Amino acid sequence: MYEVRQEINLKTIRENFLNIQNYVGNKTEVIPVIKADAYGHGASAVALALKEFVKNYFAVACTEEAVELRKNHIDTNIIVLSRAGFGDIEDLYNYNLTPVVHGFSVLQDIIDFAKNKKYRFPIHIKFNTGMNRVGFNQLDLEKIVELYKKNKDYIDIVGIMSHFSNSESDIKQTTQQLNIFEEIIKSIKSYGIDPRYYHISNSGAILNYRSSHFNAVRAGIALYGYYPKKQKDNSMNIKPAMSIKSFIISKHYLKKGEGISYGPSFVANCDMQVAIVAFGYADGLFRLMSNKFGVIVNDKLCKSIGTICMDMFAVDVSDVDVKVGDEVIIMGKSKTCMVDADDLALVSSTINYEILTNIGKSLRVKRVYV
Ligand SMILES: *Cc1c(COP(=O)(O)O)cnc(C)c1O
Repeated sequence: MYEVRQEINLKTIRENFLNIQNYVGNKTEVIPVIKADAYGHGASAVALALKEFVKNYFAVACTEEAVELRKNHIDTNIIVLSRAGFGDIEDLYNYNLTPVVHGFSVLQDIIDFAKNKKYRFPIHIKFNTGMNRVGFNQLDLEKIVELYKKNKDYIDIVGIMSHFSNSESDIKQTTQQLNIFEEIIKSIKSYGIDPRYYHISNSGAILNYRSSHFNAVRAGIALYGYYPKKQKDNSMNIKPAMSIKSFIISKHYLKKGEGISYGPSFVANCDMQVAIVAFGYADGLFRLMSNKFGVIVNDKLCKSIGTICMDMFAVDVSDVDVKVGDEVIIMGKSKTCMVDADDLALVSSTINYEILTNIGKSLRVKRVYV
């Protein structure tokens, strides 16, 4: 009853994975992206829940995240997407991880390390096709092939990959990136190199571009039940897996003309009943949501009022029968109401990704697997 908690439904994540796999078909491997603590859902628990379904890989962003999984007995292959090779090559080797290499200095460091250990380092090579963040240039291909041919015993190119910058909205940009990626694949094959994996698709491209699936896709946000951009149809048949719940710590009355909380940024325009909820910006709300979001109290959607504090916020419960200790759903579903990460993103000028990776990750919120 008196608990501030983040509920994670692992069965939902499992079903989401299977539905995404079903959507792309069995010629394409779904690589679950479980970076940033599985977008706030708990990487080790999510990995354990998906392990039996995953064909080959999990993906994380950095080596520390992968090591954490290894320490929790996840022995599935792991690709390290973004930050591998910078002072962590020893760990990549020790924990049997597969780095994504996107620049020459890291490529050379990995070759040197592997030579020294007489090891053949499995790597994926990332090309920039228009995101212009990280990745080799298409024109680097010849030099990469040269290096590879000289060091075949030390590097094993398992995959060629890239990343879309706007696969949820921009058809022209996405098509252009896809064309460049296809050219790169063609050239690399023309050198007699044909890695096992070609992958470029994130959730947006999984949804929108079947021709971008190749033999693997990297599913992040969809795994957790959300699309990168709100959709009319739930074509992949996915469901949110995270709920945030708290409780009422105080109930009282505001008279017309009285303010509430710091500022006050809200002044009552009539007499009203208010409840104070144990959850604040230190628990992962954003202060700029103040006066803009709603929560569910006893199956009624109620407006939050006043400035969100570090540890609590106020709600207008004039139309609801409530008592101290009653549950408040900040994100999640009741019998007839729902608040999701898209709703919270909309009122905080951000995207559902940032809501999920931010909300409820403090020590003060108990994570519960249901
Ligand atoms: C985070 C990430 C993904 C997953 O993206 P979603 O939009 O969450 O599906 C895929 N690929 C790379 C390289 C990433 O960093």
